[in-house]
Amino acid sequence: MAEGGDENTLLKTEKQRLSCEDLDKIEPISPEEEKEEGVLEGEFAKSSQTEAEKEEGVSPTTESSEDMDKIRQFFAEKLHIGSLANELKVLETVDFEGVMKYIRDGCCKNIVTMAGAGMSTSAGIPDFRSPGSGLYDNLAKYDLPRPEAVFDIDFFRKQPEPFFDLARSLYPSELKPTLCHRFIRLLEQKGLLLRHYTQNIDTLERAAGVSDDKIVEAHGTFHTSHCTGCRREYDQQWMKEQIFSTDLPRCQSCEAVVKPDIVFFGESLPARFFELVSDDLRRCDLLIILGTSLVVQPFATLVDRVQDTCPRLLVNKEKVGRPSVLMRLFGQKGLDFDSASNYRDVCWLGTCDDGARAMAAALGWEEDLRKLESEAGGPP
Ligand SMILES: [Zn+2]
Repeated sequence: MAEGGDENTLLKTEKQRLSCEDLDKIEPISPEEEKEEGVLEGEFAKSSQTEAEKEEGVSPTTESSEDMDKIRQFFAEKLHIGSLANELKVLETVDFEGVMKYIRDGCCKNIVTMAGAGMSTSAGIPDFRSPGSGLYDNLAKYDLPRPEAVFDIDFFRKQPEPFFDLARSLYPSELKPTLCHRFIRLLEQKGLLLRHYTQNIDTLERAAGVSDDKIVEAHGTFHTSHCTGCRREYDQQWMKEQIFSTDLPRCQSCEAVVKPDIVFFGESLPARFFELVSDDLRRCDLLIILGTSLVVQPFATLVDRVQDTCPRLLVNKEKVGRPSVLMRLFGQKGLDFDSASNYRDVCWLGTCDDGARAMAAALGWEEDLRKLESEAGGPP
């Protein structure tokens, strides 16, 4: 926290914009307050519907705008940040260049990146949980109750063969990280990466040289495997060899089946995710969302958990992140690119690699990225 208690005027900059120093003064939300915030999110969802009505040309009544003000005030008081969070923006311009300038100006030191399948598609890795892509066709002989059963933990315990059959046909011959994976490594090298959360199990972040402690593999990983009997651990190379042999991977100690540490349906997320996520998002001062449709939990709601002053940049082929009406009633706010009150959400449409290239260019990091790209890829 900054010193000097007399400067409680966070409104000192022109255009009522928060400066980098001001951002440092904002106190993190305590877990107790976060609980209260849950109630408020419900209130806020109702008010944002009024905003939507406004956009659709329905004239707001004076009463409803008074309600809005009351809600805003209540919300702001609870968050200890005055009305700044909702009224003011930290970006000079709410666009891609505004976010890049925010980084260039040194306003963020704790960037959190969130990655989905779109980040790995250029590495030739299919989104293999999605049925209908032909990937499941060769599983017909197993007479699965439904295609997704291959990733169901109860089904796996009874019949692990279909999973390993699928893994054999999908295992990439070469683990070559994409340009975007290199960009994550570059953020770490620049000292700006707080954490990289990925839904992908392909270990390409590790292959790109991102440090283990910077990575949270929210849906697990092929990096390690464990015996379903005695819990003995096996490494990626061992599992790869097993997958390409025709036998089931069997534990060398107890003969039970060994399963890669990817999260199956019916299994909980890795403990590391729960240990880190709350604190990371509270500290996050720029959220970059890469190649995900933001419909799978828990990623879909993570975007709500950063502070209200945290800008959010989506790099994706489509504009996503607006929750359904039902989810909004449950308090999920999501991303908000198009409303008049948007002060922090920016969308960059395109592939993750092109987005990484655009960010590197805007930040003057092209040479650094090229250097990383020329390094040999492959698992460490
Ligand atoms: Zn064992």
